Formats: sequence, structure tokens, C-alpha cells
Amino acid sequence: APVDRYAVIGNPIGHSRSPEIHRAFSTATGEPLDYQRLLAPLDGFEDAARRFFAEGGLGLNVTVPFKLAAFTLADRLAPRAAAAGAVNTLRREDDGTLYGDNTDGAGLVRDLTVNLATALAGRDLLLIGAGGAARGVVLPLLECGPASLTVVNRSAARANALCEHFAASGVADSGLLHSGDVGLATARPYDVVINATSSSLTDAVPCAFTIAADGLAYDMMYGARPSAFMQAAAAQSARVADGLGMLVEQAAESFRLWRGVLPSGQPVLAALRDTLTSEGDA
Ligand code: NDP
Repeated sequence: APVDRYAVIGNPIGHSRSPEIHRAFSTATGEPLDYQRLLAPLDGFEDAARRFFAEGGLGLNVTVPFKLAAFTLADRLAPRAAAAGAVNTLRREDDGTLYGDNTDGAGLVRDLTVNLATALAGRDLLLIGAGGAARGVVLPLLECGPASLTVVNRSAARANALCEHFAASGVADSGLLHSGDVGLATARPYDVVINATSSSLTDAVPCAFTIAADGLAYDMMYGARPSAFMQAAAAQSARVADGLGMLVEQAAESFRLWRGVLPSGQPVLAALRDTLTSEGDA
């Protein structure tokens, strides 16, 4: 029988780590599958995705800039994808329809709580950013039972709109969810600070922030070296982590959606970290 086919679709796509992650999961779980990169034209996501599924593909990971287009394309949505307004995983059902899910938030929560052994229940969380990445993690973070979740953004109006969206959908008690301009980030010390902006692309901090000395600062971006955000947190004696674990764990959650088996993220994460570090040294 032909091997089941999956792919990651995006633009650009050449630097995606997803093929090596899913091939490692395939080996570790004994689930044979083929996983490729798929470059779609910026105005051609729907055509490329439909063709992939029509030709027998079973699942797609969706990355920048197509997560909203994938949300629109899906025939049925997981509740967390509906809440996020974005889809990063598509699965073709037996009847040919497409099921859309968003595993980014679950990946972040698993990396924080399992790999980094960081409790979120009863803690004060700060989320910096109000783009697609921030939106995707609000509901999974709230489900961990934090004492509070504060969302700030360079453009405060976007942070406010994001929180209003979740408050209106009834998922957050008033009093639990706060939003505003970046001044809120230094109004008090936070236990866990998550950078969901793309500030690290330009090696800048997204904003000044205050973190508890035993807190954890988490940058969704990843790289060979600590970002300016991570350095600013380390200077306040906080623990720091980048987003490589989130990348691996969202992939594990997608793999589970497709294959019904949850692969262990840690060995793949360790191997990927070695690769990233040696590339950084090169
Ligand atoms: P968007 O373009 O949707 O949003 C960008 C966000 O970053 C906005 O909140 C924007 O603020 C803010 N921002 C950009 N530059 C700066 C800056 N210099 N200072 C302060 N704020 C800034 O991007 P996404 O939400 O889709 O992605 C954000 C990051 O998260 C990306 O870098 C992506 O790589 C990463 N990510 C990592 C994942 C992982 O698995 N590790 C998964 C998903 C995303 P404003 O609204 O004011 O413009």
C-alpha cells in the first residue's frame, strides 16, 4: 500500500523544521508516513491545499501566512481552533471533508508545564503580543487556571480587542483577563511572561517588563542564541526558554490528531536543539 502522505504548507517554507520533526515521530512511533514541504503561492493557498487532499494527502500543517485561510477552508473546527480564529492543522476525513484544529496553544502549554515543569495554575501570566500567535494561546492558557492573564501589545487597541473577543465568548471570568498598553507589563511582577510578538526578528525587546525572580520568561521565537527578551529576563534572575519546545509539542499534538498516537517530544527536542546550536556555531 502507498505510504500515508502529510505536508507542511507555507510561504516561505524552505526553513521549516516540521519535516524532520514528523519524520522523527514516525520512526519513534512506528507509524510509517511521508512528510514533505509544500510551497504555496501567496494568493494560492486554497488551490494548493485542495490539490494536495484531492491527490490523496491526509493531513497538512499550516504555517505563516496561511493560518487564517486554513480556518476559512476547514469544513469543521475543533473548539480551540474556533476560539483562536486560526487553523494550523488540517485532517482529511473519510468523507473527504476537512477538519481544522489549532495545536499551537496545546504545544505551548505542554512545553511550559511538562518540559519546563512550570505550574500555571494560580499564577499571574503576562502575554506580550496580540497577533495570530497570541490569539491561539489565550484559551489553552486560561484552561490552566491562572490567577490572572494580562495581555499587552505595542498597539494597545489590538490587545483590548483580543481580550474583548474572549470575554464576549464567555470563556474568561471578568477579573481574570486584563489588557492594555505595554505600561501594564511593568505594573507588577509576573510569574510567567510569554513573548508572542515577532520582536526577536529584529533582536529587540517587545517592551519593558517585570518578572518575578523565580519566574519564567518564554520567547515563542527560537534560535541558536538567547533573544534580547530572554536576556532582559535573565537580568532579573528569571528562568528563560525559547519556542523550540512549543514547535515540537504542537507538532506532536498534530501527529496525534492524524495518527491517534502522541509521540514523546523530548528526544526530538534534544536532537533539534543540538542541530540549532551547531548551526549557530558554524
Ligand atoms: P503577527 O504578525 O500576527 O503579530 C505580530 C505581533 O508582534 C503583534 O502583536 C505586533 O505588535 C508585535 N510586534 C512586532 N514587532 C514588534 C516590535 N519590534 N516590538 C513590539 N511588538 C512587536 O505574528 P504572529 O502572532 O503570527 O507570530 C508572532 C511570533 O510568534 C512569530 O515570530 C512566530 O515565529 C512566533 N511563533 C512561534 C511558534 C512556535 O511554535 N514556537 C508558533 C507560532 C508563532 P503590533 O500589533 O503593535 O504591530
